[in-house]
Amino acid sequence: MNTSISSIPFVDFRFQHQPIQSQLDQAIQAVIRRGDFILGQALAEFEIAFAQACEVDYGIGVASGTDALALGLQACGVGADDEVILPTNTFIATLIGVIRSGATPILVDCDSQTALIDLAAAERAITPRTRAILPVHLYGQMVSPSQLFDLASTYNLLIFEDAAQAHLAEREGYRAGSVGTAAAFSFYPSKNLGAFGDGGIVVTREEIVAQTVRSIRNYGSPQKYFHTDSGTNSRLDTLQAAILNTKLPHLASWNADRNRAAQHYEALLEPLADYGVFPLENHCGRGHVYHLYVIRITDICPIDRQTLQTQLTDLGIQTGIHYPVPCHLQPAFQHLGYRVGDFPHAEALCQEILSLPMFPGLSDEQIHHVVMAIKQQVTSAFGSNRSTYQPQVASA
Ligand SMILES: *Cc1c(COP(=O)(O)O)cnc(C)c1O
Repeated sequence: MNTSISSIPFVDFRFQHQPIQSQLDQAIQAVIRRGDFILGQALAEFEIAFAQACEVDYGIGVASGTDALALGLQACGVGADDEVILPTNTFIATLIGVIRSGATPILVDCDSQTALIDLAAAERAITPRTRAILPVHLYGQMVSPSQLFDLASTYNLLIFEDAAQAHLAEREGYRAGSVGTAAAFSFYPSKNLGAFGDGGIVVTREEIVAQTVRSIRNYGSPQKYFHTDSGTNSRLDTLQAAILNTKLPHLASWNADRNRAAQHYEALLEPLADYGVFPLENHCGRGHVYHLYVIRITDICPIDRQTLQTQLTDLGIQTGIHYPVPCHLQPAFQHLGYRVGDFPHAEALCQEILSLPMFPGLSDEQIHHVVMAIKQQVTSAFGSNRSTYQPQVASA
C-alpha cells in the first residue's frame, strides 16, 4: 500500500479554490465596494450566466435548494389539491419542498441498478389529482428526458426537476434543468457548483414562472411595498452570486474531472463484481456529472457494508451513505402513511450503498488506494469466511 497517502477525504476543495483564490477575493471585494448586498449586480449577472449554462431563458437566485423547490413549485401553480410524484430515495429536501408547496407528496420506488426514479412505478401512482412529476437527477445522473416527456404528455403532467446534484449534467442532448417547466438547483458548498454558504436557483423557460419566483422570493412584491403574491424572503446573496460567477466558468472542467475519476474507479472495481461489489450503473455516459460516486455492497459480498465502512475509516478513507433512510421511513413523515416494505428497491439500496471519495482533483493514485483498500478487506473476509461462505448468484 502506498505510504505517501496518509488519508483521503470525502471532499477536498483545494483543487477548485486554490487556483482561483485571487479572483474569488477580488469578486468579494467588488461586492463590498459596491455595497449592493441584496439583489445586486453580481446576482443579476449570475442568474443570466447560470440560466444560459442550463440552456433555459430564466434563472432566479434563492436562498437554498430547498427554497428553490418550494418556491419553484408554487410558481408553477402546484399547491393544495395537487399530487406530486417523487422518488423515496432522495435527500429529504425534495420531500420538504413538495410539502411546503402545499401539494400532497406521492412517493415511488427507484430502479435498483441506477437508483433513479422508477418511471413505471411513477406511472402506476398517477391519479386524477396528479399534477406533477418530480424527477431527481440523483448523484449527478439525469432521469431520461424522453421517458419523462412520454409520461408527461400521456398524462398531462408538469415536470419539475430536482437538479441539486446535477449542475450541467446531460442526457439525450438535454441539460439538467432544461427538461421540465422549471428546475431547482442547490449551491450548498459540496454540490458540483458550491457557494461559500447556502444558495439555490430556480431555472425555467417560462416567463410567467420566472416573474412569480422573482416576486415571491422578495416578499411577494414585484414593486416595493406592493404585495401581489403571498411571498417570503429567500434571495441568493450578492456575495454568494459573486463567488458562484467566479466558479461557474470552471464547472464543466470540474465535472469532466469527476467523470474521469468515475471511469477510473469503474475499471479498477470491475474484478470486485465477483465479490458482490458493484458501482451503480451509468446510463448517460459523459453526461453523468458524478456529484457522488456510489457503489453497492450487495448481500453476496463476504463483508457487510458497515464493517467495510468502518475498516475504510480506520485506514483514513472517508466514505458516506447517501442516504441511510428513505424518505418514507423518516420519523417526521410517518403521517404520510408509508411502511417498511412499500418500496423494496429503495429500502434494499439503503442497506447496500456506499459513497466513495469524489471531487475534482481526486488523483489516480488516491482512487487506486481506495479500491485496493476495499479489495483487501473484501478478499480477506472471503478467505476467513471461506468454510461458511457460499457464493450466490449476484442479485445485480
Ligand atoms: C442538496 C439537495 C437539496 C437541497 O438543497 P439545499 O441547498 O441544501 O437546501 C435538494 N435536493 C437534493 C437532491 C439535494 O441533493
